[in-house]
Amino acid sequence: MMNKITFDLISIFPDYFAPLKLSLIGKAEENGLVEIKIHDLRDQAHGVHKSVDDTPYGGGAGMVMSPEPWGAAIDQVLASSDATTHELIVLTPAGEKLTQVVAAELATKEHLIFACGRYEGIDHRVTEHYRTVPGVRVRELSIGDYVLGGGEVATLVTMEAVIRLIPGVLGNPDSLVEESHSLPENVVEYPNYTKPASWRGLEVPEVLLSGNHALIKKWRTEQAQTRTRKLGEQTGE
Ligand code: SAM
Repeated sequence: MMNKITFDLISIFPDYFAPLKLSLIGKAEENGLVEIKIHDLRDQAHGVHKSVDDTPYGGGAGMVMSPEPWGAAIDQVLASSDATTHELIVLTPAGEKLTQVVAAELATKEHLIFACGRYEGIDHRVTEHYRTVPGVRVRELSIGDYVLGGGEVATLVTMEAVIRLIPGVLGNPDSLVEESHSLPENVVEYPNYTKPASWRGLEVPEVLLSGNHALIKKWRTEQAQTRTRKLGEQTGE
């Protein structure tokens, strides 16, 4: 049976998620493979200004997102879910790095909640609190070693990486085989070519036109290894 994942996204900028209606993810939702619910954090904020942030304890620049609206929003999502386990993904540059392995693991879950921070981030007690709630697994996740303005783009990146791994989402599941960073070798893919065979004086490597599958496989393996090694030299990994 295909697993359907429910995604609950919480943000002060719900409009950021408009692209989820497009392409692969839009189709996955239409086909009932995923369900995506978007929540405006400000619906949980009180007062005239519907403020969701305050000055940091201990001083310093910027504002910190208050725990109360986050607690209310996450509680509401949990209460309205019939899933038995929940992954609460808190986007932060200080989190565990998103990799293909993490994406593959998330693609097996039934319920993913994405908490999109803004300003200097979310009061740390929110993650501390939900770590103690039965059935909830908190995962602080970073999409890379740089700082974005908010967690919305990081959520879109994570969702795209996860959703394309859900069985039935890609028209041709073979597309997932031999992809960059696929399990278990963590190599990057060989270079790809399509028609025409000659373009601006550049020719497609002869071997790919040979029809000799064993030779093609060998060439692709070598290319993938070379690219992976070069990438390692660049990044020092
Ligand atoms: N003060 C935080 C720090 O230094 O770690 C950065 C806060 S950032 C300006 C605001 C929000 O953007 C974060 O709370 C997080 O949700 C999101 N964000 C920024 N960079 C990110 C990254 N690399 N991965 C995931 N989320 C990120």
